[in-house]
Amino acid sequence: MSHGVKPTRREALEYYRRVKSAWNLKVNYFEKVEKIARVESIFEVITEKSFYRCRSIVLAIGYYDNPNLMNIPGETLPKVFHYYKELHPFNDQKVAIVGGGNSAVDIALETFRHGADVTMIVRKSRIDKSVKYWVKPDIENRIKEGSIKAFFNSMLSEIKENEIVIEQNGKKITLENDLVFAMTGYKPDFEFLLKAGIELKGKRLKVPSINPITHETNIPGLFLAGVVCGGMDTGKWFIENSIDHARRILETIVKKKKMKK
Ligand SMILES: Cc1cc2nc3c(=O)[nH]c(=O)nc-3n(C[C@H](O)[C@H](O)[C@H](O)COP(=O)(O)OP(=O)(O)OC[C@H]3O[C@@H](n4cnc5c(N)ncnc54)[C@H](O)[C@@H]3O)c2cc1C
Repeated sequence: MSHGVKPTRREALEYYRRVKSAWNLKVNYFEKVEKIARVESIFEVITEKSFYRCRSIVLAIGYYDNPNLMNIPGETLPKVFHYYKELHPFNDQKVAIVGGGNSAVDIALETFRHGADVTMIVRKSRIDKSVKYWVKPDIENRIKEGSIKAFFNSMLSEIKENEIVIEQNGKKITLENDLVFAMTGYKPDFEFLLKAGIELKGKRLKVPSINPITHETNIPGLFLAGVVCGGMDTGKWFIENSIDHARRILETIVKKKKMKK
Protein backbone atom coordinates (compact mmCIF):
# COMPACT_ATOMS: atom_id res chain seq x y z
CA MET A 1 0.00 0.00 0.00
CA SER A 2 1.29 3.46 -0.93
CA HIS A 3 1.92 5.98 1.82
CA GLY A 4 2.33 8.88 -0.64
CA VAL A 5 -0.09 10.65 -2.97
CA LYS A 6 1.28 8.66 -5.94
CA PRO A 7 2.77 5.16 -6.03
CA THR A 8 6.55 5.04 -5.97
CA ARG A 9 8.62 3.29 -8.64
CA ARG A 10 9.10 0.34 -6.32
CA GLU A 11 5.36 0.08 -5.61
CA ALA A 12 4.55 0.27 -9.32
CA LEU A 13 7.05 -2.50 -10.12
CA GLU A 14 5.56 -4.68 -7.39
CA TYR A 15 2.08 -4.08 -8.83
CA TYR A 16 3.25 -5.08 -12.34
CA ARG A 17 4.94 -8.19 -10.93
CA ARG A 18 1.68 -9.23 -9.27
CA VAL A 19 -0.37 -8.55 -12.41
CA LYS A 20 2.00 -10.87 -14.25
CA SER A 21 1.58 -13.67 -11.73
CA ALA A 22 -2.20 -13.17 -11.18
CA TRP A 23 -2.86 -13.50 -14.93
CA ASN A 24 -0.22 -16.19 -15.35
CA LEU A 25 1.43 -14.24 -18.17
CA LYS A 26 4.29 -15.90 -19.99
CA VAL A 27 7.22 -13.49 -19.96
CA ASN A 28 10.61 -14.27 -21.50
CA TYR A 29 13.08 -12.08 -19.65
CA PHE A 30 16.36 -10.61 -20.92
CA GLU A 31 15.58 -11.42 -24.52
CA LYS A 32 16.01 -8.65 -27.07
CA VAL A 33 14.01 -8.88 -30.29
CA GLU A 34 16.46 -8.23 -33.08
CA LYS A 35 14.35 -8.53 -36.19
CA ILE A 36 10.81 -9.17 -37.32
CA ALA A 37 9.88 -10.11 -40.85
CA ARG A 38 6.57 -10.93 -42.53
CA VAL A 39 6.63 -14.02 -44.70
CA GLU A 40 3.24 -14.19 -46.44
CA SER A 41 0.71 -13.94 -43.55
CA ILE A 42 3.12 -15.17 -40.84
CA PHE A 43 5.63 -13.13 -38.87
CA GLU A 44 9.06 -14.46 -38.05
CA VAL A 45 10.54 -13.02 -34.89
CA ILE A 46 14.27 -13.38 -34.36
CA THR A 47 15.58 -12.68 -30.89
CA GLU A 48 19.08 -12.86 -29.45
CA LYS A 49 18.11 -16.24 -27.92
CA SER A 50 15.43 -17.82 -30.08
CA PHE A 51 13.06 -17.75 -33.05
CA TYR A 52 9.24 -17.49 -33.04
CA ARG A 53 6.43 -17.58 -35.60
CA CYS A 54 3.07 -15.82 -35.10
CA ARG A 55 0.15 -14.19 -36.91
CA SER A 56 0.07 -10.89 -34.96
CA ILE A 57 2.67 -8.82 -33.14
CA VAL A 58 2.20 -5.96 -30.70
CA LEU A 59 5.27 -3.76 -30.32
CA ALA A 60 5.26 -1.81 -27.04
CA ILE A 61 8.96 -0.97 -27.14
CA GLY A 62 8.73 2.49 -25.57
CA TYR A 63 11.69 4.83 -26.05
CA TYR A 64 13.61 4.54 -22.80
CA ASP A 65 16.42 2.29 -24.13
CA ASN A 66 17.89 5.00 -26.41
CA PRO A 67 19.08 8.21 -24.72
CA ASN A 68 19.56 11.38 -26.77
CA LEU A 69 23.29 12.02 -26.70
CA MET A 70 24.78 15.49 -26.21
CA ASN A 71 27.75 14.74 -28.50
CA ILE A 72 30.21 16.67 -26.34
CA PRO A 73 33.74 15.78 -25.16
CA GLY A 74 33.73 13.64 -22.02
CA GLU A 75 30.23 12.22 -22.53
CA THR A 76 31.56 8.64 -22.40
CA LEU A 77 33.33 9.10 -19.04
CA PRO A 78 32.12 6.55 -16.44
CA LYS A 79 30.81 9.38 -14.23
CA VAL A 80 28.15 10.27 -16.84
CA PHE A 81 24.74 8.57 -16.51
CA HIS A 82 21.63 8.60 -18.67
CA TYR A 83 19.60 6.64 -16.11
CA TYR A 84 19.01 6.91 -12.40
CA LYS A 85 18.85 3.60 -10.60
CA GLU A 86 19.18 4.56 -6.92
CA LEU A 87 22.51 2.77 -6.80
CA HIS A 88 25.10 5.45 -6.28
CA PRO A 89 26.03 7.24 -3.12
CA PHE A 90 25.36 10.95 -3.65
CA ASN A 91 26.01 12.39 -0.24
CA ASP A 92 28.42 15.35 -0.51
CA GLN A 93 28.87 14.72 -4.24
CA LYS A 94 28.83 17.59 -6.73
CA VAL A 95 26.09 16.40 -9.05
CA ALA A 96 25.30 18.12 -12.37
CA ILE A 97 21.96 17.38 -13.98
CA VAL A 98 21.39 18.26 -17.63
CA GLY A 99 17.77 18.91 -18.65
CA GLY A 100 14.65 20.52 -17.25
CA GLY A 101 12.07 17.77 -17.76
CA ASN A 102 10.51 15.21 -15.43
CA SER A 103 13.54 12.92 -15.20
CA ALA A 104 15.96 15.77 -14.50
CA VAL A 105 13.64 17.25 -11.88
CA ASP A 106 13.04 13.92 -10.10
CA ILE A 107 16.79 13.28 -9.86
CA ALA A 108 17.57 16.85 -8.77
CA LEU A 109 15.10 16.64 -5.88
CA GLU A 110 16.05 13.14 -4.83
CA THR A 111 19.84 13.64 -4.89
CA PHE A 112 19.44 17.03 -3.15
CA ARG A 113 17.42 15.31 -0.39
CA HIS A 114 20.16 12.71 -0.04
CA GLY A 115 22.85 15.27 0.66
CA ALA A 116 24.18 16.04 -2.82
CA ASP A 117 25.33 19.47 -4.01
CA VAL A 118 23.07 19.80 -7.07
CA THR A 119 23.45 22.00 -10.16
CA MET A 120 20.92 21.86 -13.01
CA ILE A 121 21.85 22.90 -16.54
CA VAL A 122 18.71 23.74 -18.51
CA ARG A 123 18.64 24.68 -22.21
CA LYS A 124 15.36 26.62 -21.89
CA SER A 125 14.68 29.70 -19.76
CA ARG A 126 12.62 27.74 -17.22
CA ILE A 127 11.68 24.31 -15.93
CA ASP A 128 9.60 22.43 -18.57
CA LYS A 129 5.85 23.08 -18.55
CA SER A 130 5.37 19.29 -18.82
CA VAL A 131 6.86 18.63 -15.37
CA LYS A 132 4.28 16.91 -13.17
CA TYR A 133 2.06 19.53 -11.58
CA TRP A 134 2.55 18.11 -8.09
CA VAL A 135 6.36 18.28 -8.43
CA LYS A 136 6.89 21.60 -10.29
CA PRO A 137 6.37 23.94 -7.30
CA ASP A 138 8.84 21.87 -5.25
CA ILE A 139 11.70 22.23 -7.76
CA GLU A 140 10.90 25.89 -8.49
CA ASN A 141 10.99 26.74 -4.80
CA ARG A 142 14.27 24.83 -4.21
CA ILE A 143 15.83 26.81 -7.09
CA LYS A 144 14.40 30.11 -5.82
CA GLU A 145 15.79 29.56 -2.33
CA GLY A 146 19.17 28.53 -3.83
CA SER A 147 19.33 25.06 -2.32
CA ILE A 148 19.45 23.65 -5.87
CA LYS A 149 21.50 25.76 -8.30
CA ALA A 150 20.20 26.16 -11.83
CA PHE A 151 21.76 27.58 -15.00
CA PHE A 152 19.00 28.41 -17.50
CA ASN A 153 19.53 29.18 -21.22
CA SER A 154 22.60 27.01 -20.81
CA MET A 155 24.28 23.99 -22.38
CA LEU A 156 26.89 21.62 -21.06
CA SER A 157 29.82 21.86 -23.49
CA GLU A 158 32.49 19.63 -21.92
CA ILE A 159 32.84 17.04 -19.15
CA LYS A 160 36.24 16.47 -17.55
CA GLU A 161 37.39 14.09 -14.81
CA ASN A 162 36.74 16.62 -11.99
CA GLU A 163 35.04 19.54 -13.76
CA ILE A 164 32.31 20.51 -16.19
CA VAL A 165 32.15 23.43 -18.62
CA ILE A 166 28.80 25.20 -19.08
CA GLU A 167 28.04 27.71 -21.85
CA GLN A 168 25.57 30.45 -20.99
CA ASN A 169 24.91 33.37 -23.37
CA GLY A 170 28.31 32.83 -25.06
CA LYS A 171 30.16 32.74 -21.70
CA LYS A 172 32.02 29.63 -20.49
CA ILE A 173 31.65 28.68 -16.82
CA THR A 174 33.78 25.92 -15.26
CA LEU A 175 32.49 24.13 -12.14
CA GLU A 176 33.92 21.39 -9.96
CA ASN A 177 32.01 18.17 -10.56
CA ASP A 178 31.86 14.53 -9.46
CA LEU A 179 28.89 13.13 -11.41
CA VAL A 180 26.74 14.07 -14.39
CA PHE A 181 23.17 12.93 -15.07
CA ALA A 182 22.40 13.68 -18.72
CA MET A 183 18.60 13.62 -18.67
CA THR A 184 18.32 14.81 -22.24
CA GLY A 185 15.44 12.58 -23.21
CA TYR A 186 15.16 9.34 -25.11
CA LYS A 187 13.96 8.26 -28.52
CA PRO A 188 12.27 5.15 -29.91
CA ASP A 189 14.39 2.68 -31.89
CA PHE A 190 13.40 4.08 -35.30
CA GLU A 191 15.81 1.80 -37.12
CA PHE A 192 14.02 -1.25 -35.66
CA LEU A 193 10.60 0.14 -36.67
CA LEU A 194 11.79 0.92 -40.20
CA LYS A 195 13.39 -2.50 -40.58
CA ALA A 196 10.00 -4.02 -39.66
CA GLY A 197 8.51 -2.02 -42.57
CA ILE A 198 6.63 0.55 -40.46
CA GLU A 199 6.29 3.94 -42.17
CA LEU A 200 7.29 7.03 -40.14
CA LYS A 201 5.51 10.35 -40.75
CA GLY A 202 7.20 13.76 -40.50
CA LYS A 203 10.92 14.53 -40.61
CA ARG A 204 11.11 15.77 -37.03
CA LEU A 205 8.45 13.79 -35.16
CA LYS A 206 8.78 10.50 -37.08
CA VAL A 207 5.33 9.34 -35.97
CA PRO A 208 4.76 5.66 -36.82
CA SER A 209 1.91 5.07 -39.24
CA ILE A 210 -0.97 3.50 -37.29
CA ASN A 211 -4.73 3.32 -37.55
CA PRO A 212 -5.80 5.52 -34.57
CA ILE A 213 -8.73 3.21 -33.73
CA THR A 214 -7.13 -0.24 -34.03
CA HIS A 215 -3.45 0.71 -33.59
CA GLU A 216 -2.57 -1.55 -36.54
CA THR A 217 0.40 -0.24 -38.52
CA ASN A 218 0.72 -0.10 -42.30
CA ILE A 219 1.88 -3.75 -42.01
CA PRO A 220 -1.28 -5.89 -41.46
CA GLY A 221 -1.09 -7.82 -38.19
CA LEU A 222 1.64 -5.59 -36.72
CA PHE A 223 0.37 -3.30 -33.95
CA LEU A 224 1.93 -0.55 -31.81
CA ALA A 225 1.00 0.24 -28.20
CA GLY A 226 2.18 2.72 -25.61
CA VAL A 227 4.55 5.65 -25.92
CA VAL A 228 6.19 4.39 -29.11
CA CYS A 229 3.02 5.52 -30.95
CA GLY A 230 4.10 9.18 -30.52
CA GLY A 231 7.45 8.92 -32.31
CA MET A 232 9.68 11.79 -31.17
CA ASP A 233 6.68 13.34 -29.43
CA THR A 234 7.59 11.21 -26.41
CA GLY A 235 5.36 13.18 -24.03
CA LYS A 236 2.18 12.53 -26.04
CA TRP A 237 1.42 9.12 -24.54
CA PHE A 238 1.90 8.05 -20.94
CA ILE A 239 0.44 5.38 -18.68
CA GLU A 240 -2.88 7.06 -17.97
CA ASN A 241 -3.81 7.97 -21.57
CA SER A 242 -2.48 4.85 -23.33
CA ILE A 243 -4.22 2.37 -21.08
CA ASP A 244 -6.82 1.46 -23.74
CA HIS A 245 -4.28 0.65 -26.50
CA ALA A 246 -4.14 -3.01 -25.41
CA ARG A 247 -7.94 -3.38 -25.44
CA ARG A 248 -8.26 -1.80 -28.92
CA ILE A 249 -5.54 -4.08 -30.30
CA LEU A 250 -6.88 -7.28 -28.76
CA GLU A 251 -10.43 -6.54 -29.93
CA THR A 252 -9.08 -6.11 -33.47
CA ILE A 253 -7.08 -9.36 -33.32
CA VAL A 254 -10.11 -11.31 -32.00
CA LYS A 255 -12.35 -9.78 -34.69
CA LYS A 256 -9.88 -10.76 -37.44
CA LYS A 257 -9.67 -14.29 -36.07
CA LYS A 258 -13.48 -14.64 -36.07
CA MET A 259 -13.66 -13.40 -39.67
CA LYS A 260 -11.20 -16.10 -40.76
CA LYS A 261 -13.34 -18.90 -39.30
C1 LIG B 1 11.18 9.40 -14.66
C2 LIG B 1 9.85 9.07 -15.29
C3 LIG B 1 8.68 9.31 -14.59
C4 LIG B 1 7.44 9.00 -15.14
N1 LIG B 1 6.30 9.26 -14.42
C5 LIG B 1 5.09 8.96 -14.94
C6 LIG B 1 3.88 9.19 -14.21
O1 LIG B 1 3.91 9.64 -13.06
N2 LIG B 1 2.68 8.88 -14.79
C7 LIG B 1 2.61 8.36 -16.08
O2 LIG B 1 1.50 8.09 -16.57
N3 LIG B 1 3.74 8.13 -16.78
C8 LIG B 1 4.97 8.41 -16.25
N4 LIG B 1 6.11 8.17 -16.99
C9 LIG B 1 5.98 7.63 -18.35
C10 LIG B 1 5.81 6.13 -18.32
O3 LIG B 1 6.91 5.51 -17.72
C11 LIG B 1 5.66 5.65 -19.75
O4 LIG B 1 4.58 6.31 -20.34
C12 LIG B 1 5.39 4.14 -19.80
O5 LIG B 1 6.36 3.39 -19.14
C13 LIG B 1 5.36 3.71 -21.26
O6 LIG B 1 5.05 2.36 -21.34
P1 LIG B 1 5.42 1.53 -22.64
O7 LIG B 1 4.97 0.15 -22.35
O8 LIG B 1 4.92 2.22 -23.85
O9 LIG B 1 7.03 1.59 -22.73
P2 LIG B 1 8.13 1.19 -21.66
O10 LIG B 1 7.60 1.21 -20.27
O11 LIG B 1 9.32 2.04 -21.98
O12 LIG B 1 8.45 -0.34 -22.02
C14 LIG B 1 9.13 -0.72 -23.20
C15 LIG B 1 9.81 -2.06 -22.95
O13 LIG B 1 10.18 -2.66 -24.20
C16 LIG B 1 11.50 -3.15 -24.09
N5 LIG B 1 12.12 -3.22 -25.44
C17 LIG B 1 12.46 -2.21 -26.26
N6 LIG B 1 12.99 -2.67 -27.40
C18 LIG B 1 12.99 -4.02 -27.29
C19 LIG B 1 13.42 -5.08 -28.14
N7 LIG B 1 13.95 -4.86 -29.35
N8 LIG B 1 13.30 -6.37 -27.69
C20 LIG B 1 12.76 -6.62 -26.46
N9 LIG B 1 12.31 -5.67 -25.63
C21 LIG B 1 12.43 -4.37 -26.04
C22 LIG B 1 12.18 -2.13 -23.18
O14 LIG B 1 13.39 -2.64 -22.67
C23 LIG B 1 11.09 -1.93 -22.13
O15 LIG B 1 11.13 -2.92 -21.16
C24 LIG B 1 7.37 8.44 -16.44
C25 LIG B 1 8.55 8.18 -17.17
C26 LIG B 1 9.78 8.49 -16.59
C27 LIG B 1 11.04 8.21 -17.39
